[in-house]
Amino acid sequence: MATYYNNETILFLNGEFVKAADAKMDFYSQSLHYGYSVFEGIRSYKTVKGETKIFKAVEHYERLKNSAAALNLPYLWTADELIAATYETLSRNNFQDAYIRPVVYAPANMSFVKNEQSFIVIEVWEMQPFLGDNLLRVMTSSFQRPNPKAFHIHAKAAGHYVNSLLASQEAKAKGYDEALLLDMNGYAAEAPGANLFYEKDGKLVTPSLGNILPGITRATVLELCAELGIEAEEKLFTLEELKTADAAFYCGTAAEVIGIKSVDAYEFPKPWNDTVSRKIQTAYKCRVTEKEYKQEPELV
Ligand code: PMP
Repeated sequence: MATYYNNETILFLNGEFVKAADAKMDFYSQSLHYGYSVFEGIRSYKTVKGETKIFKAVEHYERLKNSAAALNLPYLWTADELIAATYETLSRNNFQDAYIRPVVYAPANMSFVKNEQSFIVIEVWEMQPFLGDNLLRVMTSSFQRPNPKAFHIHAKAAGHYVNSLLASQEAKAKGYDEALLLDMNGYAAEAPGANLFYEKDGKLVTPSLGNILPGITRATVLELCAELGIEAEEKLFTLEELKTADAAFYCGTAAEVIGIKSVDAYEFPKPWNDTVSRKIQTAYKCRVTEKEYKQEPELV
């Protein structure tokens, strides 16, 4: 298991910077008992100029606010104050390339009624930019994504992640790197913690919103496509359609852009280095570190 903190680690807890080792939360919290909390997964990067930059900080804190609203959790903070607190937490821990995990959680409450109060913690741990292109071997999960009529699936709610853990653990137990989950109607949806794109004839396709988490990396990929003149489409598609694609990738804050080698027995035929997906992978790495992206001549 990874180590997330040591005796020196500082976290932000309800307005104060405290040692992670001394921080306390209530074991009677509704969040612990019912999976009733919302969170974000954010990254900061050391830019080419040597500064620490939180990538898409406003977008992440907006999504946190929307997630809290979807779950009726009081949300008492502004994006500005939380972004300032995040930079301060990074600086107190001397981190530049880091993963940032804010969690909004509930007070002690064993009933199902909503609360007047919420708490927030911001934890940071070191994470290097993901390097290399180890293509993933993916299996179609026996688990579907949660039914959007049972959950607000656009919210990044802790409870939804039981589904992600089950799917990912199943895939790994069967010798795969990661799972692919379908939605309740059998359309390709997403990975346990990342969004899906496929490439066909130089065009990118990604599942439309509705049954997936609206990923900030997914939105960034769509932005990059527009900037680079790569055609992109959001639509629902089946596993059968995915298995006719030239290439595919997952994308998410933690995963960044990571190519997929195969889904079940289907291997994507196009060499990764010849795909526009690979171009997006490189352009994404440049974007997060504020490096100018120069199109590679052999790919133009
Ligand atoms: N789908 C799920 C289920 C996720 O957990 C994540 C990671 N937050 C994503 C997609 C990708 O979202 P983002 O790009 O905002 O990290």
